[in-house]
This record gives sequence, C-alpha cells and structure tokens, in this order.
Amino acid sequence: MPTKTPLAPAAPFEPPVRVLLGPGPSDVHPRVREAMAQPLIGHLDPAFVGLMDQTQELLRYAFQTDNKLTLAISGTGSAGMETVVDNLVEPGDAMLVCVNGIFGGRMVDVAQRAGAKVTSIERPYGETFDPDEIRQALKAHPAKVVGIVQAETSTGAWQALEEIAEITHEAGALLLVDAVTSLAGVPLEVDAWGIDAVYSGTQKCLSCPPGLAPVTLGPRAVEALMARKTKVQSWYLDLSMIMRYWGGDRFYHHTAPISMNYALREALALVASEGLEARFARHALCGQALQTGLASIGIGLATKAGNRLPQLTCALIPEGIDDLAVRKRLLADWGIEVGGGLGPWKGKVWRIGLMGHGARPSNVTLFLSALETCLRDLGVDVPVDASVKAANEVFDQAEQPAGV
Ligand SMILES: *Cc1c(COP(=O)(O)O)cnc(C)c1O
Repeated sequence: MPTKTPLAPAAPFEPPVRVLLGPGPSDVHPRVREAMAQPLIGHLDPAFVGLMDQTQELLRYAFQTDNKLTLAISGTGSAGMETVVDNLVEPGDAMLVCVNGIFGGRMVDVAQRAGAKVTSIERPYGETFDPDEIRQALKAHPAKVVGIVQAETSTGAWQALEEIAEITHEAGALLLVDAVTSLAGVPLEVDAWGIDAVYSGTQKCLSCPPGLAPVTLGPRAVEALMARKTKVQSWYLDLSMIMRYWGGDRFYHHTAPISMNYALREALALVASEGLEARFARHALCGQALQTGLASIGIGLATKAGNRLPQLTCALIPEGIDDLAVRKRLLADWGIEVGGGLGPWKGKVWRIGLMGHGARPSNVTLFLSALETCLRDLGVDVPVDASVKAANEVFDQAEQPAGV
C-alpha cells in the first residue's frame, strides 16, 4: 500500500494569463501550441521522419545555410552550447572565449568542463568586441576554436560577426557562435559570413517553448569532428551518433521529444511564411518604438549605443525606484513578465524582450502604459501616455506596418 498521500489536487494545472516580455521564454503563437497538442506518433514513424526532414530544411532557411549537419538537439539552448563545444574541443585543445555577459561566461565553464585550455577576453557589460582585440588575442593565444555570443541576452549587446569570422579563419581557428537570442530576430548569415558552428534555442525569437536547440555545423567543423582522437565526453550530445538518427540510416539514439518537434516545425513554418526579412524588420521596428518610448520619459538604456539589440532592451531603473516592486506589480496587475538584471546589473536594469510572436506594437504600448502607471504611482513625474505617444509615432512613421 502506498503510504504517501498526494499534496496536489487532482484538477489540471491552469496557468495564469501572461504577456511574456522577458528574456525568454517568449509568447508562443497559437499554431505552435496547437501543434503540441496533436497525438503522439513513434519517433521512427515515417510521418515523424518526414517532419524531421522538413524541420532540417526550415532550419537551413532560418540559419541561411546549406550545411548538411543542421538539426535540433533535444534540450534547451544550453544543451546546444554544450553540444557544439563538447563536439569541437577535445581535452587539451585551446579555445578562446569572448565574454561580455553571462552567456559568454557560461561558455567558458562548459569548455573547461570539456577539458579545453580556455583563454577568455572580456568586455564590460553592455559592450561588444572589436575584431582587432580578437586578432591580438589569437596572436598571443593560438586556438582551435573561438567562441562568441551574437546576442548577449544578459546585456542587450549585439555583436557584429563578419570580420571576426575572417580573422578567426586567418588564424586557422573555427568560429563558434551562440545565436540563442539572435536566430530569427536579427540577421544571421551562417554561410555568407563563414561561421563554422552555431547553436540556438527554441524559446527566444523562434517563439516556441523551451526544449530544443537547433545547431548547424559547416564543412570545417565537420572535418574537426571526423579528426577527433577521443570520444565526445557526453554520450547524449555526441553528434556522431545523433547525426545518424537525423541523417540517412535513422539509427536509434534516444527517443526524440515528439511534441517539441511538432512545435519547432510549426514555429519554423511561421518564420518561413513571414520571411526572414519581414521578421527582422518587425523586431527592429518594435525595438525602436520601445527604446524611443523609454527615452521620451527619461529612462536610459544600459547597453552602449550603436550595438543595441531590438529584441532585448536593458532599461536603466530610475533612481529611487525599487526593481522588484515594479516587476511584481507589472505581473500582478497586467500579467506582464519582464526580466531583472544579472551579474553587475542586478537591481539596476529591467530586461524587456520583444521576441518572435511577442514583437508586436500592442505589446510595446501595453508595456509602456503599464510601466508609466507604476512610475507615476511611485511619485515619478510622467505625463499620461507620453511614452505610448512616442512609440506610436515610430510605428506611424514606419514604411511597413509591424503586424498586429
Ligand atoms: C537563453 C540563452 C542561453 C541558454 O538557453 P536555455 O534555453 O536557457 O538553456 C544561452 N545563450 C544565450 C545568449 C541565451 O540568451
């Protein structure tokens, strides 16, 4: 006889209505949610195999690549990071990691655990790397792999990559890019820019629940995989086995998370039907409207000008305003979730995400209106709707509407 009694009531869980405007997960399109509720089929069912093929083609479009080795790892964005790092480095290999926020820092940790000899170069929060710094670092510390984050979600910084790819190749190294928050939000041209390996996640600008990590590896990276002398430290994330399941012989490795793959296929189909260009324009416009709205009521941005992401804005919390009190009220009264600061920016910034399905004018004005109300109630002098008006002007002046 079981002796433990259940703590939870038998009723189904009912999540509250939320507007997810944080650093992820982002709001999911109804079509993606509906896809997840479809009946299960087997992971080797011909219909599921067909869905995997479609997903690979759609991922190649999102990544702008012809790389054969393009697939979705079972796990969140961090599993994508671990997959690409673990497969490209062997114990003793040198890796250079560019750290300007939490996720660059995480890459250092992952690479060290894989046995790499890691050198890191650092930039303060909110800044990005100059190609020259990377050239110098590679001169002083030749490396097999250079790791860098395109969209640092902890700081809102947008890293330019084209020149860095050239410099990395000149030094005979492979370029590994974290595109967890950038994929389908800002341009990423894997083939045209010559990026060797990329990982992403489903829960940011793809607007799919967290649970899969798209990755793509180009010819130089595949060559490095083939030349390995040691086994990949992680059995689960070993691409030499995973690619046999996604590739030709459908060799059983692990049971694919079926419903998550339904969701990703649907999210990628939405990306393809919108078109990348229109999607980038929508993110750019919504980000610009939000940032203009914040500036109009005297709220500064923490990320250095010139390299601010549109899909993740770090707003400086005004002097004397309590971070948590505002975020709690946004959640309680409007159902709005935004993120707090991380590391040195804890308590100093709000991180506002406008990602994927969440990047819509109605979310920009809803958020600004709610934030204004919170600030006014805390005694800040903000004219009613000042920021909403400023944001709407940006939308009105746009050549293309940003959708609804
Ligand atoms: C979110 C994020 C990750 C980690 O993804 P998880 O889905 O949380 O595991 C890695 N890198 C960046 C830049 C991210 O924004």
